[in-house]
Amino acid sequence: MTDIIQVLPDHVANQIAAGEVVQRPASVVKELIENAVDAGGTRIDLLIKDAGKTLIQVSDNGKGMSETDARLSFERHATSKIKMAEDLFDLKTKGFRGEALASIAAIAHVELKTKQTDSEIGTQIKIQGSKVASQEPCVTSNGTVVSVKNLFYNIPARRNFLKSNSVETRHIIDEFQRVALAHPQISFSLHHNGNELFQLPETNHRQRIVNIFGAKTNEKLVPVEEETDLVKITGFVGKPEFSKRTRGEQFFFVNNRYIKSPYLNHAVNAAFEGLLKDKKNPAYFLYLSVDPKSIDINIHPTKTEIKFDDEHALYAILRSSIKHSLGQFNVAPVLDFER
Ligand code: ADP
Ligand code: MG
Repeated sequence: MTDIIQVLPDHVANQIAAGEVVQRPASVVKELIENAVDAGGTRIDLLIKDAGKTLIQVSDNGKGMSETDARLSFERHATSKIKMAEDLFDLKTKGFRGEALASIAAIAHVELKTKQTDSEIGTQIKIQGSKVASQEPCVTSNGTVVSVKNLFYNIPARRNFLKSNSVETRHIIDEFQRVALAHPQISFSLHHNGNELFQLPETNHRQRIVNIFGAKTNEKLVPVEEETDLVKITGFVGKPEFSKRTRGEQFFFVNNRYIKSPYLNHAVNAAFEGLLKDKKNPAYFLYLSVDPKSIDINIHPTKTEIKFDDEHALYAILRSSIKHSLGQFNVAPVLDFER
């Protein structure tokens, strides 16, 4: 008899996990910005070079990490955000899988500087090939700076399959905007190859939308508000003239997390019935707050799909509240007297 099964070494397991979590530079951006949000800071700065292929750097002024935590943060399934299985059903943070940094470190060169407010000195750690290459004390401001260089340097096939810089930058901007829209109380900036693409001051939801999509957007927003036992809805839908042939500005946030939901999208379309010509798509920025226990976020590694306990009720509430808002703001079907 010969035994042939082996437990894979960590760096191989991490590389496999990375295949799911990190598809492209934008995935790294999402994970790092979400960590920065979870760290509770008030300012997050994103800097990229060559569409993130050369460098992705996220700085925050959040709570930072201790020397030991800075090392542990790169271990797989190492997280400060959950402790036990029950916590999975009551998630209040963006992260919880403890996989992102380990995955990223398996497929890129990573450097992290961090300092906690009550520490005098920070720590700087360099990771090469999933392993700590060096860790030293360093002078740095409160919070954390993570730099990810040479993404997919060790997976040529992935690197070669990356799209053009303009396409990859577009994906990064999408991720950046999603988090920025979800957290208007945090300042965000984005620089690409030294050029400033976004500088977003701390503000409210409406102004954040306007700051991202332009001053003309303001007059086109119709507020939506509803509160029931199941869900609290706030946000805006665009007046019909704000709608587009292509799927433009369509954003659902559930407990401040951007999600994709064809089902809820259908509810919005249903509310717009009769108002949109030529198969146009309505714009919307809708923020849903639900009891964390009533959703399951853990169905996909990137967490953009979630499962609701009572999807049908949610659909009905969403549709009727949007209809109501459109009615209140006199957005009614144009009367057609020609017979
Ligand atoms: P997760 O976010 O799922 O916990 P990550 O691999 O993204 O997993 O991060 C691992 C841990 O590292 C986090 O739980 C957190 O404690 C710490 N961490 C990561 N990024 C930051 C940051 N920007 N500021 C403070 N702590 C961080
Ligand atoms: Mg994370």
